[in-house]
Amino acid sequence: MSEKIEYPPRVKLANTPTPLDMLGRMSDKLGVELYVKRDDLTGVELSGNKVRKLEFAFAEAINNGADTVLTCGGVQSNHARATAIAAVKLGLNSRLILRVSDPSNPPSYEGNSLLDKLAGADIVWVTPDEYENRGEIFEREADLLRKIGQKPYIIPEGASNSIGAWGYIRAVEELARDLDDLSGGRDKPTTIINAAGSGGTSAGLILGVLLFGLNVNVVSVNVCNDKDYFVRVIGDICEKTIANYSLGIPFLRDRDINIIDGYVGKGYAISRPEELNLIRDVARTEGIVLDPVYTGKAFFGMLKELERKPRIFGDRIIFIHTGGIFGLFPKAGEMSALL
Ligand SMILES: *Cc1c(COP(=O)(O)O)cnc(C)c1O
Repeated sequence: MSEKIEYPPRVKLANTPTPLDMLGRMSDKLGVELYVKRDDLTGVELSGNKVRKLEFAFAEAINNGADTVLTCGGVQSNHARATAIAAVKLGLNSRLILRVSDPSNPPSYEGNSLLDKLAGADIVWVTPDEYENRGEIFEREADLLRKIGQKPYIIPEGASNSIGAWGYIRAVEELARDLDDLSGGRDKPTTIINAAGSGGTSAGLILGVLLFGLNVNVVSVNVCNDKDYFVRVIGDICEKTIANYSLGIPFLRDRDINIIDGYVGKGYAISRPEELNLIRDVARTEGIVLDPVYTGKAFFGMLKELERKPRIFGDRIIFIHTGGIFGLFPKAGEMSALL
């Protein structure tokens, strides 16, 4: 491992280190070692990947003297829910800008949005068009908060910026220790697979692997947009993080960003029966519950790629379970027919 990394300030929110579980039955069937990094176990109400990023974002918010955090996402955003809960724990207010088709008639509270409300978050419903210009909405809401004497701190979508990326740099340090405990240790070539939605998890993983000099290939399955979009978004976060924190590591978009495109399916947060069937099958084979929006699609993509080319990811795979379980409940109607 390289010298000790100097992390920005962090507040502890996540239950880490998370376990690394082997999926024994699936490994036997696939003829590879398949592990799952259980970042769905970072918490119960804080479950998932966002809380790792929020540890750094909230530390910055508090150091800036903020009393309210502003963030955004889809109506079932795991990130918004984790932000709302973390804000309560740290004594801050939260205001969530959530995307819905009709803001005058928002859907009833369920899954993540139920937890948002339970945690007392202010919710601002916006249309998909308004969400496209969320920079303006953030400014408008921040101005409103300042006018009533509050001090807002803006956390961008998914906390996917250079401060949030530290959450997954730190996760790679944890993964390096996990690898030491496996046969072959950390020298054995390993592929890490994750779902990419706003890019910050991928960026942190890529930077962490470079910083800690691991023999690891990070592969991200996009669940929205396309490959070009994610190379740009992840590339920008990596470059900004390297510049802002003088990391001095050689990063090359073409070499270091690996996106597997083709598994968005019907669109962001829209499920196909084969994806929901896979969630059922993984639950029944391994007792692991994937989510329909992110991990279910990424896992589906991973298996399809392995079907096409069994050695495509080498002998050892670590799938990052980034959480999302609350997004399953609003799909109950759709899933029931498959159970
Ligand atoms: C947000 C999210 C992701 C994607 O992570 P990004 O850093 O936004 O790319 C993956 N899985 C779950 C469950 C998420 O909530």
